[in-house]
Amino acid sequence: MHLIIMGAPGAGKGTYAEGISKYYGIPHISTGEIFRDAISKETPMGILAKMYIDKGQLVPDDVANAIVEERIKQEDCQKGFLFDGFPRTLNQAIEFEKVLEKIGKQLDAAINIDVPEEVIIERIVHRRICTKCGKSFNVVTLPPKQENICDDCGAELYQRDDDNYETIRKRLDVYYDLTMPLIDFYKSLNKLVNIDGVGKKEEVTKLIIDSLEAL
Ligand code: AMP
Repeated sequence: MHLIIMGAPGAGKGTYAEGISKYYGIPHISTGEIFRDAISKETPMGILAKMYIDKGQLVPDDVANAIVEERIKQEDCQKGFLFDGFPRTLNQAIEFEKVLEKIGKQLDAAINIDVPEEVIIERIVHRRICTKCGKSFNVVTLPPKQENICDDCGAELYQRDDDNYETIRKRLDVYYDLTMPLIDFYKSLNKLVNIDGVGKKEEVTKLIIDSLEAL
């Protein structure tokens, strides 16, 4: 399966991507995670990305495109992939189509997670991420079994720097302006799978997998 998952910040892309990638045995590749990893290692790309991420802006298209073009050629992507948070602009989507054509692959579906803004803001401010494996929790709706500790790997949880009220407003505006138009782009390619993302993690994940299986 060759998939992308889209949605506003906090829509649950990473959470649902985890179950989908396990089900299909494909890598879950989050461009946001790649940037956070580069930031923590203080690489030149990380230092550049941080300037944009801290302000709630998108990292320039050429940086995101180059990362994906490199990543998709790796061995684990040969039987499929699930990109989470990429593409995020029309330019990225068009470049991605060109990369896929170059390597002789086609996207099977673009999953769009639809969640109302009030739910998104609540989810983001309560989100906690594992420092080691990147798994997402929510202190209200999906708390870890032990406070501040990841259920899967036992590492400590943290709150992302950009998960605060001021940055969320900016990230949502950027989403409406630059990323939402991708819904029509993938609809026109007949690849769009629209999902109501309000519900329990297991229920929404099952809904996505059932919709993909029905394609
Ligand atoms: P995420 O983890 O998907 O919420 O991404 C966190 C931040 O990383 C975003 O707010 C952007 O600043 C940046 N980012 C992630 N993916 C992309 C992308 N495809 N293009 C540009 N910026 C991105």
